[in-house]
Amino acid sequence: MKMNIATIPGDGIGPDIVREGCKVLKTIGKKFGHEFVFTETLAGGAAYDLYGEPLPAKTLEACCKSDAVLLGAVGGPKWDSLPGKMRPEQALLGLRSGMKVYANIRPALMFKQLSDACPLKKEVVGEGLDILIVRELTGGIYFGDRGRTEDGNEAWDTERYSKTEIERILKIGFESAQKRQKKLCVVDKANILESSRLWREVAEGMKARYSDVELSYMYVDNAAMQLVRNPGQFDVIATSNMFGDILSDEASQITGSIGMLASASIGDSGPGLYEPIHGSAPDIAGKDLANPLATILSCAMMLRFSFKLEKEARAIESAIEAVLDEGWRTGDIAGNSSQREALGNKLVGTKKMGDLVSQKISSM
Ligand code: NAD
Repeated sequence: MKMNIATIPGDGIGPDIVREGCKVLKTIGKKFGHEFVFTETLAGGAAYDLYGEPLPAKTLEACCKSDAVLLGAVGGPKWDSLPGKMRPEQALLGLRSGMKVYANIRPALMFKQLSDACPLKKEVVGEGLDILIVRELTGGIYFGDRGRTEDGNEAWDTERYSKTEIERILKIGFESAQKRQKKLCVVDKANILESSRLWREVAEGMKARYSDVELSYMYVDNAAMQLVRNPGQFDVIATSNMFGDILSDEASQITGSIGMLASASIGDSGPGLYEPIHGSAPDIAGKDLANPLATILSCAMMLRFSFKLEKEARAIESAIEAVLDEGWRTGDIAGNSSQREALGNKLVGTKKMGDLVSQKISSM
């Protein structure tokens, strides 16, 4: 099978981690007999420096023509004073809408080997944490009508959803739940918001088609509380753009390791967009200090969602588990020197971590 992957290294640590993602994909290709062809494109600050805009048309075109896109991260202090539309982060919005990827899928997964990094008490987290958040990405209040009165003293933003927009997110939510613990929680504010009541109406209309999935609803304020009180109760959460934005950051933080969390943004057809959830970490860029595992896990999501290569995706995840089991850690997940010593952890850089995962895959 031949697959064309557009890569956007971007800024900061982006090039460091995308290089390791590609390395692991090449190893998968070799082991399982697939051909991954990589086309590197520019977006973010790197594109602004060369072309004067954060998302050149030819980048978007290359991404839309590909089978999947792997993105590192964009942004950094160098571009912070640019006007809004020229900022590197604009490239993200342009990519999402240009590629029509309307659903963001973020696993908040705590690796048992890293449970010490979780900020919650052990008795709260229990055996671990494995939540999948499906967030609507191209609608709702972030895209609705907004404005200011002429005197500038009042402003408004509008939460607006169509049944179609809701249904396609819930479909992903139900189908994901079917492959996991079979529980879907729709998070909303249906006691106040009419748009939330529409989410519930659509979910009620769909639930008979997914009778093996236990459907529940939760108000977003309660969900924010329950995520730190009893996170183990959640399997799949489906929610709107703004609620998902906030809750997915909260959920990722309770896993304790920003360098480990992957994400996928997908639409109906066309390529998906795969990226780690963290930013460009300018403080450690180019120093071989970044943890590449979030990016490598994003590659596993790419194999699973875009290419339906489940066995290959699992191979990456198992290799990462094995490397962690052996005590290999990048700085962000290694703990301080006395913790490292106590746990027998071995500190490695970005490149070595990518090598270790690749070697594990090859030797499986
Ligand atoms: P950040 O995620 O880049 O960094 C936060 C902290 O986490 C830093 O201390 C950083 O060193 C550390 N960190 C992040 N990823 C790491 C990794 N893989 N390994 C080890 N440590 C890691 O967030 P920030 O500092 O708020 O933002 C920096 C820049 O990134 C800003 O310009 C911001 O706009 C941009 N940003 C981009 C994206 C994206 O491209 N999707 C997302 C968030 C932020």
